[in-house]
Amino acid sequence: FFSRLFNSRDMDSLMADVASWLERFAGRENIFRFWQEGFAIVVYDPEGSKAEELAHTLSRRFETAWSTDEVTAKLETVTGIIRVPDDVGTLRQLQDLLISGFQDSQPGSMLLTREDIADIRRMLDVEDALRDAIAGNRMEVWYQPIWSAETESIVAAEALVRMRDEKLENIFPDEFIPIAEKNGMIHELGRFVFSETCRVISQYGLKDLGIRYVDVNVSIYQFLRDDLFPAFEEMRREWGVSAEQINLEITEGLALEEVASVGRTIEQMRKVGYSFSLDDYGTGYSNLARLLGENYLNIKIDKSILWSGDSSQENAVLLDDLIRLIRSMNNNVVQEGVETKEQLDRVVRSGANLIQGFYFSRPLREEDLAAYISRMNAGRAPASDTETTDI
Ligand code: C2E
Ligand code: MG
Ligand code: MG
Repeated sequence: FFSRLFNSRDMDSLMADVASWLERFAGRENIFRFWQEGFAIVVYDPEGSKAEELAHTLSRRFETAWSTDEVTAKLETVTGIIRVPDDVGTLRQLQDLLISGFQDSQPGSMLLTREDIADIRRMLDVEDALRDAIAGNRMEVWYQPIWSAETESIVAAEALVRMRDEKLENIFPDEFIPIAEKNGMIHELGRFVFSETCRVISQYGLKDLGIRYVDVNVSIYQFLRDDLFPAFEEMRREWGVSAEQINLEITEGLALEEVASVGRTIEQMRKVGYSFSLDDYGTGYSNLARLLGENYLNIKIDKSILWSGDSSQENAVLLDDLIRLIRSMNNNVVQEGVETKEQLDRVVRSGANLIQGFYFSRPLREEDLAAYISRMNAGRAPASDTETTDI
C-alpha cells in the first residue's frame, strides 16, 4: 500500500488499521509483513479457488476509503496470487517476484492476473539467464551483411548480440535488451558488443574485404553514462580500428534533445569520425521533425513498414513515398527485413540504396561473415569512401 500524501504518523495509524483488518480477514497466523507496506497472506489451497476469492474481496475492500480518527483516505494497492511451487521455487525467487511485481502501484486497487505473474516470472528468469550468460562468457555477437544497390556488393554489416542459454532456449535481444536497460546490465553488454565488433573488424581485415563500417546498436541508456565515449575510444584504439569504421545505430525511444548530455556526446563522437544511423524508422517515436533536425548517415526503415506493403497497395505506396522523401534529403535509406526478390526490387526501385535482410543473409557467426563477404565481393575493389558504380 502506498501513499505519498501523509506524514508518517498518519500513515502509521492507517497501516495499523489495515493490519488489524487483515488479521480479522485472514486469520492472524496467516499474515506476514514483508516490508513496511507489503503483506502476504498464506493459504493452503490446492484448488486455487480460495485464494482467488480472498484476492477479489481484498482488492474490493481497498476501493473504498480507510478512516482513522485523524484521516480518511483511499490507499493504492497491488494484489496478486503467487502459487508455490508453480510460480516460485525458492525464497529468493519469491522475494524477487514480490519486489518486481508489487511495488509499482497505480492509482486505485490493482489485481494482478495469472498472466501478469507469469510475465514477471519470465522476466526474472531472463534476467537471471542474462546475468549468468554474461558471467559465463556465453554472450556472442553475430553479424548481418548489408548490401549496396549502388555497388552491388556487401559494404557493411550490423552487429547483433546473441545469448546462449541451456535452460531457456530462444531468448532474443528484443526480449533481453529491455531488461538489460532496466537493470543496468546494458552498459557491460554494450561494451562487450563494441569490443567484439572492433576485434572482428581488425582480425578479419573487413576493410580490405570491402566493408566500410560495421553498425553497432547502442541503447540511449548507454549515453547516460559519461564514460561511454572514452570507453569506446579505448577499445577502438586497442584494436587499431578507425572511428569511420563504426556506425552507431540509435533508436530514439527517449527524446534525445531533452537530454542535453546525450546530444553533446553524440556531437563529440561525430567530430572524431563516428557516424550515426536512425534505427527502426517508422515505429513509435520517429517522426519527420527528427529527420530534419539530426545529422544521420543512414535512416533504417523498420521491417514492419516494409512487410505491411506486401498485403496492402496503400501501404506499399506510403513506403515508396517515405523512401523517396528520405533520399531527397540526402540520407541513405537502409531497408531492413528484405526477405524476397519482390521486396528487394520494390524498395530498390523507390531508391533504397542499402539492403539488409534474410534475402541476402541471416545474421552470421564471425567466421561465416568473412567467408560470405569474400564470396559476394570476389573480384570487386576494396571499400572506398566514395560510392562507385560498377560498369
Ligand atoms: P534492429 O537493430 O532493428 O536489428 C534488426 C533485427 O531484424 C535483428 O533482430 C535481425 O536479425 C532482424 N532481421 C533482419 N533482417 C530480417 C529479415 O529479413 N527477416 C526477419 N524476420 N528478421 C530480420 P535481432 O538480432 O533479434 O535483434 C532485435 C533487436 O534487438 C535489434 O533490432 C536491436 O534493437 C536489439 N539489439 C540487438 N543487438 C543489440 C545490441 O548489441 N545492443 C543493443 N542495444 N540492442 C541490440
Ligand atoms: Mg539495429
Ligand atoms: Mg531496426
